[in-house]
Amino acid sequence: MSDSAADAKLEVKQASKEVKESENVAERYSAMTVSKNTDATVGDLSSAFAPVTTHKAVKKQIQFVTSEDKQEFSKFPTKAGRRSLSRSISQSSTDSYSSAASYTDSSDDETSPRDKPQVNSKGSSDFCVKNIKQAEFGRREIEIAEQDMSALISLRKRAQGEKPLAGAKIVGCTHITAQTAVLIETLVALGAQCRWTACNIYSTQNEVAAALSEAGVAVFAWKGESEADFWWCIDRCVGTEDWQPNMILDDGGDLTHWVYKKYPNVFRKIRGIVEESVTGVHRLYQLSKAGKLCVPAMNVNDSVTKQKFDNLYCCRESILDGLKRTTDVMFGGKQVVVCGYGEVGKGCCTALKALGAIVCITEIDPICALQACMDGYRVVKLNEVIRQVDMIITCTGNKNVVTRDQLDRMRNGCIVCNMGHSNTEIDVVSLRTPELTWERVRSQVDHVIWPDGKRVVLLAEGRLLNLSCSTVPTFVLSITATTQALALIELYNAPEGRYKQDVYLLPKKMDEYVASLHLPTFDAHLTELSDEQAKYLGLNKNGPFKPNYYRY
Ligand code: NAD
Repeated sequence: MSDSAADAKLEVKQASKEVKESENVAERYSAMTVSKNTDATVGDLSSAFAPVTTHKAVKKQIQFVTSEDKQEFSKFPTKAGRRSLSRSISQSSTDSYSSAASYTDSSDDETSPRDKPQVNSKGSSDFCVKNIKQAEFGRREIEIAEQDMSALISLRKRAQGEKPLAGAKIVGCTHITAQTAVLIETLVALGAQCRWTACNIYSTQNEVAAALSEAGVAVFAWKGESEADFWWCIDRCVGTEDWQPNMILDDGGDLTHWVYKKYPNVFRKIRGIVEESVTGVHRLYQLSKAGKLCVPAMNVNDSVTKQKFDNLYCCRESILDGLKRTTDVMFGGKQVVVCGYGEVGKGCCTALKALGAIVCITEIDPICALQACMDGYRVVKLNEVIRQVDMIITCTGNKNVVTRDQLDRMRNGCIVCNMGHSNTEIDVVSLRTPELTWERVRSQVDHVIWPDGKRVVLLAEGRLLNLSCSTVPTFVLSITATTQALALIELYNAPEGRYKQDVYLLPKKMDEYVASLHLPTFDAHLTELSDEQAKYLGLNKNGPFKPNYYRY
């Protein structure tokens, strides 16, 4: 046996012992579908507790990490601010979702929130938002979101007197929306103190930020922050003398980056980092690889309940909305090419096909291409159909999937947009040349006009369409938010030694628990294994029901 295999086995045994000795805190909040896994075998646990460095999906992501990405953590944010910021807009922001609009955005008030001393009704001024007076309106937004986030509300109820996050001081950097507010207030209900900042300069719902500040959460964020504001807000969240965080919840890695660079001593008290986005997970993995990760981190991005729901269902629900709001296009009979048949591509195709669009796929991976064929789509090369299609949607996470040459050959009126995480899938930069005229026809809609009068309709300048031009369903965000809450509870309460300085996946049972919390919404009734069936399948009656390599 190799050294690494021996190490892995040792680690698995250790994890097994720990789980048997200490009840998993999150499980105590389970109704009946999840209970203590006393019968778990070492094999089961190896998948639940193995660091993600052994996880295939993550290995795949890592291949995409460029040398530029590798340098990210060694750069001081203010120095590399513009580059880092553009990532925080165009990459981290796209790994998770927000309803991009702030309903009460008052753009006529030009005063920077930093220059506007504000006090909430309890006399606290430990926050910085656009306008604290919008709190009541924000509260209504939060209440609406709560209606579709019943899993978080039931987590609050199940905790009752018990506070699994008592003593937790969580600093968070996520989109600040009504849905995130429900998560933050759940963490507070479970005993945590929270300070929060935005991971994206555009996505903050000002009224929600005001409502949270009024309720006593120190929020530093507003819609339309400048680059300097962005880092100032992060700094104000972390850099207080009388409050030191012991947990980090990050979306994109900017907060983690800032703490590493500016307040490394804070890590002495940090019990763990929970990271939601592809980008942030890449960065954590780089730290781990370099031996610089000094606390355990939970990769929520690769939880089944994130990847298989956010990516697939969120896109299935929001692609049409984004296209309709921007173009009023009719889908029936339209020829559409979807580039990439992964989770996002599959979601988009299902929605487009249902409305009668004729959908073709481009793929580089024969397995995904075969899936597309079996689902009834034609798999083509983009060049084969470029002259006749009405719409092109990129969903690959790759770059230059649609090139200038292909843009030159598109027909008049072709709609081009992107659902992948970065704005590099369509070569938009190549369209900024003197011979082409750009005409802004609506918010987030540009006509790019060729000298012969041909127009290509470019949406959101090649940025992620649904995040930029539509809203996304609260229910899907509830699943991700519940996963984040459980990851925080698990890391905060884990006995010393269960998690080392590495990146981990959420244990499978918690993934299952997150799903089970969302089933009552549909009045779904799970079948229970009989003793005989459980024995036959070699499973614990209460789960986990699948090995970690199961693909769903
Ligand atoms: P995925 O890896 O499951 O799918 C991407 C697919 O694109 C793969 O099958 C890959 O083989 C294919 N591909 C890569 N390069 C290609 C090329 N040049 N031409 C054709 N196909 C190519 O990833 P996913 O979960 O579907 O996510 C895709 C992107 O969408 C990522 O960037 C992700 O961050 C982002 N995302 C967006 C949303 C949203 O709401 N818009 C939600 C989740 C994820």
